Amino acid sequence: MSTSPRKKLIEVSLPLDAINTAAAKEKSIRHGHPSTFHLWWSRKPLAACRAVLFASIIDDPSSQPERFPTKEAQDAERDRLHHLIERMVPWEATQDEVLMKEVRDEILTATGGNPPSVSDPFCGGGSIPLEAQRLGLEAFGSDLNPVPVLITKALVEIPPRFANHPPLTLTVKKVKLGSWRGAQGLGEDVRYYGEWLRNEAKAHIGYLYPNAKLPKELGGGEATVIAWLWARTVTCPNPACNCQIPLTSKWNLSTKKGKETHVHPLLDRTTSPVSISFQIRKGLSPEEGTVNRRGATCVACGSAIPFTHIRLEGKAGRMGSQMIAIAAEYKRGRIYLPPDENHIKIANSAVMDEKPTEELPKNPRDFKTSNYGLTSFGDLYTTRQLVALNTLGRLLTKVRER
Ligand SMILES: [Zn+2]
Repeated sequence: MSTSPRKKLIEVSLPLDAINTAAAKEKSIRHGHPSTFHLWWSRKPLAACRAVLFASIIDDPSSQPERFPTKEAQDAERDRLHHLIERMVPWEATQDEVLMKEVRDEILTATGGNPPSVSDPFCGGGSIPLEAQRLGLEAFGSDLNPVPVLITKALVEIPPRFANHPPLTLTVKKVKLGSWRGAQGLGEDVRYYGEWLRNEAKAHIGYLYPNAKLPKELGGGEATVIAWLWARTVTCPNPACNCQIPLTSKWNLSTKKGKETHVHPLLDRTTSPVSISFQIRKGLSPEEGTVNRRGATCVACGSAIPFTHIRLEGKAGRMGSQMIAIAAEYKRGRIYLPPDENHIKIANSAVMDEKPTEELPKNPRDFKTSNYGLTSFGDLYTTRQLVALNTLGRLLTKVRER
């Protein structure tokens, strides 16, 4: 008797067009998709994971000649399975309980009621354990990096524990809504406490995050800042120059077609040393950044600056920083504005409370910051960032009391 394993559907064929289309569409989903709850840079499309898991469990009809004796019968069955995959891969299908039950039943039948469990030892963004769970399989995940562990716990471990529970924060209005399916109750609590936490944080440290002032030609008014863009600086070693060189690998802010924008460093040669300010200009930057793999170049005098100089300056605590642009929300998109003196003052006014002093690993190949004198975890953050993280951390522990 032959004991060779039966061929699985994935080894023969998959409806790739449908899977590709669904995977590409997923990228633009903003509501309810795991990608919106924590950024993971190599998140695998859920559609592809769902299809791959299903087709790895289900036999190809050719390996069941007792049920599908002819090529025609095998083709017809394969077509049926492909059609089921085509229906299950769109994002909307995950909300279709009837369809998902059909898929789970198909797996149960194919595995004699004893489906395998799935383990993903390097689970990253958790797409595979999440989809395994959706297909009714017992799912395990692990990762060396604590960030994916947290993401995956939040995706596959915590929601089932609160499935079909009403929220803790039941109000009269919410009671009227009636039943709470799946993670709806948990989601409501996360939204409620999240809003509380955001409002508290805003009251505590909102003054450190001023709105940007829009110029008159853009209608005036204020806009929420998405990011303040800074460059580290070092003093030019050319004694005749001595200016503060902004270190940036690129001046382009946006390379999106039709929205090209860049920072232009403006030199004031009437001062000594030369002072540098920054303008926002349309189009792509005609100049390369000031730093590349070989070293840096002074914007003012053109001197080549070796990394050894930059590292020595960093280790001596003489590296500075300059704001080079502000990115703000504007008409459902973003706009770039020049640095604002008041914003710089506010950023520098943040007062350090607690700074993590744990040393970074002494491994200059993978942890390069110590080459520049940034040797502890706390050194990786600006004072304002640390104040914000500390504030959020403290508020998080207070959520329990509420
Ligand atoms: Zn110079």
